[in-house]
Amino acid sequence: MSTIQAWLPTLIKACYFLAAFLFIYGLKRMGSPRTARRGIVQAGIGMVVATLATFLMPDMHNYVLILLAIALGGGVAWWTGQRVAMTDMPQMVALYNGMGGGSAAAIGAVELYKVSGGTLVAGHVPVALAVLGGIIGTVAFSGSLVAFAKLQGWIDKRFLWPGQNLLNGLLFLAVVGLGAWLVYSPDQTLLIVFFALALLLGVLMTLPIGGADMPVVISLYNALTGLAVAFEGFVLGNEAMIIAGTVVGAAGTLLTQLMAKAMNRPLSNVLFTGISAASGGTEIAGEQKPVDAADAASLMAYAERVVIVPGYGMAVAQAQHKLWEFCQGLIARGVKVKFAIHPVAGRMPGHMNVLLAEAGVPYDLIEDMDDINPEFPNVDVALVIGANDVVNPVAKTDPSSPIYGMPILDVDQARNVIIIKRGKGRGFAGIENALFYADNARLLYGDGNAVAGQLVTELKQLDG
Ligand code: NDP
Repeated sequence: MSTIQAWLPTLIKACYFLAAFLFIYGLKRMGSPRTARRGIVQAGIGMVVATLATFLMPDMHNYVLILLAIALGGGVAWWTGQRVAMTDMPQMVALYNGMGGGSAAAIGAVELYKVSGGTLVAGHVPVALAVLGGIIGTVAFSGSLVAFAKLQGWIDKRFLWPGQNLLNGLLFLAVVGLGAWLVYSPDQTLLIVFFALALLLGVLMTLPIGGADMPVVISLYNALTGLAVAFEGFVLGNEAMIIAGTVVGAAGTLLTQLMAKAMNRPLSNVLFTGISAASGGTEIAGEQKPVDAADAASLMAYAERVVIVPGYGMAVAQAQHKLWEFCQGLIARGVKVKFAIHPVAGRMPGHMNVLLAEAGVPYDLIEDMDDINPEFPNVDVALVIGANDVVNPVAKTDPSSPIYGMPILDVDQARNVIIIKRGKGRGFAGIENALFYADNARLLYGDGNAVAGQLVTELKQLDG
């Protein structure tokens, strides 16, 4: 055995250790908007190191197929990643996450196939881990694909039928039962049935979930994918997979909990009650009172404190740059301006933070919901731009509303509220918003970017 061959296992382990360190360090840096970009690059370098180290494994073969798969997967991801609109990011996350779950399940399938074909002698524990990773990865795969299709608008959001939970429960038991059977008596036909039922379980679990619950589900599948990768890492004896999978599983679980809390939807409720958009809610009486850009600009120009509340419509309109230009004009006049961010504003966690950072808004002007809410009674003008559900007071007042109990930004308590939106369009939850009919609220109709541009012009006229 040559010296290089003797050192190879140590070199591979060292590479996996470095990769694991980069994953954890990168994730830590993703915790702050200032360091997030570099954190993503560092975690990406970790992935490259882990992939290259795998090529050093002594039992590697089929290099051409592997390189072809890497080129295809990497190429498609690069091409789509460059083109995806910010507003389509949740679908993209769901799709990539599904691919991760599918890959973990595929590893499980190959290992179980080897066992059932008798070509590999394995103990019960690795087989059980391969089965567990197989179930979890397959459910995350098919569930994420359904989530992608729903968010992309390819599948109607409401799929409810009687006895749904019973059917899903029975299917779950069947999959687990078959998995247990496979551990003790491997069989290739059973293996196919096992994976087919697991695929169906992921689809049926996700079909009834809709409306505002979708991001929580995607985050849950993300956590499951991490878990599946970790299990399959044990099966293959691959430390990098075990650590990366555990990190993703833990981070995904925390994010799922945080999002469910922010929407006031217990996870069991999200998964099993099938509440979908546009159900429930009491009709709201009254009229929406319009305001023009000139009056709105002067109200804010002479205010002491203005709080900006961005939402999904700001992302659609790409209004963050013009909005920040307007805010800079206000700040130059001595107005105290802050931005209030709801944890689920937009269509993905951190959506608004990313857009505001892109426009150059300093981090110290951005406040989280819990910090800004007590301040609203002392705010002269709350400017809501493209936000709807996250400022809807029915979440506090109407128990029949589908968003009842969801914590909101208490914009209704500001002295004046100006809402920029195009017309009478509803938010993601598909319900009326009582804020738009409140005495202190005025509607500034138009596309977010165009209206922000008008506000800039009007403010300049006041200054000039
Ligand atoms: P909403 O989706 O509730 O409301 C968006 C508003 O923007 C609409 O009322 C729409 O009214 C307006 N709008 C749309 N386009 C424009 C435009 N070009 N210019 C100006 N206004 C526009 O947004 P929120 O941010 O308040 O709430 C987010 C919702 O999405 C929540 O229900 C949340 O649970 C859900 N969700 C959140 C995810 C996350 O992780 N953040 C992921 C998926 C869903 P009009 O048509 O009249 O202009």
